[in-house]
Amino acid sequence: MELLYKSTRNENEKATASVAILKGLANEGGLFVPDEIPELDVSLEELAKMDYKQVAYRVMRLMLTDFTEDELKYCIDSAYDEKFDTEEIAPIVNKAGAWYLELFHGQTIAFKDMALSILPYLLTTSARKNNVKEDIVILTATSGDTGKAALAGFADVPGTKIVVFYPKNGVSPIQEKQMVTQTGDNTRVIGITGNFDDAQTGVKKMFQDKALNEYLEEKGFRFSSANSINIGRLVPQMVYYVYAYTRLMAKGAIKSGDRINVVVPTGNFGNILAAYYAKQMGLPINKLICASNDNKVLYDFFTTGTYDKNREFILTTSPSMDILISSNLERLIYRIAGNDAEKNKELMTELNTKGCYEITDEMKKELASFYGNYATEQEVAETIKKVYESDNYIMDTHTAVASTVYEKYKKESNDMLPTVIASTASPYKFTRSVMNAIDASYDSMSDFELADELCKLSGVKIPKAIEDIRSAEIRHNIVCDKEEMENEVKKFLGV
Ligand SMILES: *Cc1c(COP(=O)(O)O)cnc(C)c1O
Repeated sequence: MELLYKSTRNENEKATASVAILKGLANEGGLFVPDEIPELDVSLEELAKMDYKQVAYRVMRLMLTDFTEDELKYCIDSAYDEKFDTEEIAPIVNKAGAWYLELFHGQTIAFKDMALSILPYLLTTSARKNNVKEDIVILTATSGDTGKAALAGFADVPGTKIVVFYPKNGVSPIQEKQMVTQTGDNTRVIGITGNFDDAQTGVKKMFQDKALNEYLEEKGFRFSSANSINIGRLVPQMVYYVYAYTRLMAKGAIKSGDRINVVVPTGNFGNILAAYYAKQMGLPINKLICASNDNKVLYDFFTTGTYDKNREFILTTSPSMDILISSNLERLIYRIAGNDAEKNKELMTELNTKGCYEITDEMKKELASFYGNYATEQEVAETIKKVYESDNYIMDTHTAVASTVYEKYKKESNDMLPTVIASTASPYKFTRSVMNAIDASYDSMSDFELADELCKLSGVKIPKAIEDIRSAEIRHNIVCDKEEMENEVKKFLGV
């Protein structure tokens, strides 16, 4: 049966999976959501015997029904190969009373690789299926990790170009170096004098600008998105929750059907939404624990039912979560509004004009499977140090936000179900913050000295992604105002 995708802002706009992937964003700024979430059609016992790629196929085929078996397997095989430093793709380790699902073994050492190593294949396959003739221009706003993962995925892919906008002063030094050293003639990296929300808003504006899109089409280009607003990002992210659950079965930590909790360090709400979709697919997840940093707009939303972005934007040591407009929350709002596009659109218009909206009590009830909390900067540092000292395990700052929130959840609830923590980045990506948390005197060292020290402390080899940028040449140095984003895109395309 064919699964179609509907816009969250217009119930009459429907698309096949491949068209939804190609477009990225629906018309009128809506997001594509699956008409329904199909049930898993293979038992958890069987999935427990499969490897990552096989699990990926069994999950993704349910969501991308217009892809043939050959097409989908080609995409999966091309993505989850030696680009990852372990055959397990996403290893799960038991430390300090929780299961850390390490999603950072791909080529840019953050969880974005899980989806962005397959998105270029899904996208070019979708273009072929739909006879698209234009070059695809990927426009991406990044809080640090999506940018590099998307650049690595799309570099030198024929028929594509990619432009990445990042907040010039809002990413870690390693994140910036990773991006500005990107090779590939089809890549462009631009810093903007603004924050992530400015970058994301600017990109969304270009997507929705009819005149601009028509002009580019004449010139042989069409936009698509590598942000988690693209359903081609979300679907591959559902896979690792199913994989994690079945690895716990294989390790004897749970039996089929036992419930687990999932903790997700959250920014744009994509990763946790994928877990929610996996739960709807039938995965026995009890609580979806949404962990925020000091930009705790989601915590406030889950506790009060009011989403309010009118507040100070705080730069933290977990920059990939420094976000006040969590785009993917719209998909959940649509769902709890009873799949009502009109109602959702009203709320999103309020968000646009007033910067806030409030959901009804009835909608609030639908959020029972979510729990939200947040971690302060000091708590994040303490968690890193504590788990290093107790378990000799060094986690990154984002994962530490999740770990801290999990401890708060346990204290409040006494819920001791086995719990998976999505570990979203390698500590090597945020070396300075991580090492400073362990001992403030490290701060006098250079970034690469710190990497060497981290290696000594943790016994974890320095990832290739870090070795590669030690001596790499800077290839991108454009910085622009947020008003200049469109011009920069045109310049890059030569139109
Ligand atoms: C992107 C990112 C997040 C936030 O994920 P969302 O899907 O945007 O909620 C958390 N941690 C790291 C390291 C990231 O790169």
